[in-house]
Amino acid sequence: VTSSSAHARATGVFRFTGVDFQSLRHGMSLRHSGAGHEGDVGHSPSTDAAVIEANRDTFLHALGINPRALTVGRQTHGTTVRVVTDHDRGRGLYPSFDGFPATDGLATRDTRVAIGVIVADCVPLLMYDPVVHAVAVVHAGWRGTVGLIASEAVRVMSESFDSRPEDLRVAIGPSIGPCCYEVGDEVIEGWQAASAGWGTDAVARMNPSYHFDLWTANRLALLESGVHESRIMVSGICVRCHAARFFSYRAARQDGLQHGRMLMVAQLHERAEQEPIVR
Ligand SMILES: [Zn+2]
Repeated sequence: VTSSSAHARATGVFRFTGVDFQSLRHGMSLRHSGAGHEGDVGHSPSTDAAVIEANRDTFLHALGINPRALTVGRQTHGTTVRVVTDHDRGRGLYPSFDGFPATDGLATRDTRVAIGVIVADCVPLLMYDPVVHAVAVVHAGWRGTVGLIASEAVRVMSESFDSRPEDLRVAIGPSIGPCCYEVGDEVIEGWQAASAGWGTDAVARMNPSYHFDLWTANRLALLESGVHESRIMVSGICVRCHAARFFSYRAARQDGLQHGRMLMVAQLHERAEQEPIVR
């Protein structure tokens, strides 16, 4: 596992560095004091639609992404990963919010569309294949993680784009860490059933309860799917421990902090025709 080499900038954008994402525009919005409702970009009932739209536009412009190119799904903690194209530009934008029903992952090889997932404790995954030039973003809370949505994204990229798992570069973004993620028995039982023989390291017993390590669980699922260990980057940033910079659902609910959500987004750069493709 590579160590975290991510950084945050004063603009309220978090980017992954130190891994081969150079052919992508990508980033994750942050909680930051300069913005309305502290930078919420989700569909929070507590934040005005106009504030959310303004924050999204600011964030996307900082990344060089046209807000009208964005599409997001209606996330339901399921395992559906959908392939999108230019025709889907603008789907799921607030306030009309016509995103794909029951969709927790998006994948594309089309440079004209930007894809995003919304998180506030759940894990955002960014997956890039530099060989076939394709990208996916995934929302993985405990249900999605137990449902192996990370593996489903690898499968969809293989089937749709002829991606080879060993070519993929994957970043596991800021989200609730094992330090703060106390869970009920149903989570642990679900994970044990889904990952029999290889998932043990994602569970820690901290008396009297269990803690679930979403980062390790998703990393192990990716390894099972054939992703190379050296190409998986774990940011290692717990959003609840760092609730001043990130929105955390548990921090909001249990510690009375501002509710809000963050957007992880990616868009492929145009690539020159003559650029050599080497596996
Ligand atoms: Zn923590």
